[in-house]
Amino acid sequence: MHNRDAVFLEDLCPKLRVRRWRKSLHGFTGESCIYCGKPSESIDHVLPRSKGGLSITENCVPACLSCNGDKSDKEAFDWYRRQRFYDPRRAMAIRAWMDGDLRLALRLLQWAQPDEMQKVKASTENKDQNWSLLVA
Ligand SMILES: [Zn+2]
Repeated sequence: MHNRDAVFLEDLCPKLRVRRWRKSLHGFTGESCIYCGKPSESIDHVLPRSKGGLSITENCVPACLSCNGDKSDKEAFDWYRRQRFYDPRRAMAIRAWMDGDLRLALRLLQWAQPDEMQKVKASTENKDQNWSLLVA
């Protein structure tokens, strides 16, 4: 890891903005790790900073400390496929996230973990099929 990369983001943005940005990332997934679904305690760079990954939304995903630490600067999808909790829907969600399609990413995550994602009140997802079934 290069020190230059570590300070890159802080140089560009006031700290408060960075904190709010990170919080909003956690909010997208209902504060759950995009890889395994456990509570997200950190932000992981999908493409590691040491390999030129930028601190932008498309490259930064909520992750638990265990995934973040274990993945380290390995190739994300290569690493993820080897995990016990590997879920192809999550892998697709990460790809959509990297493409900047957060809506698609959230749909895939909701598919992968319907319970955890119930608490996410994404403005686009208020008419959940499950809800209409319950009230029918
Ligand atoms: Zn995790």
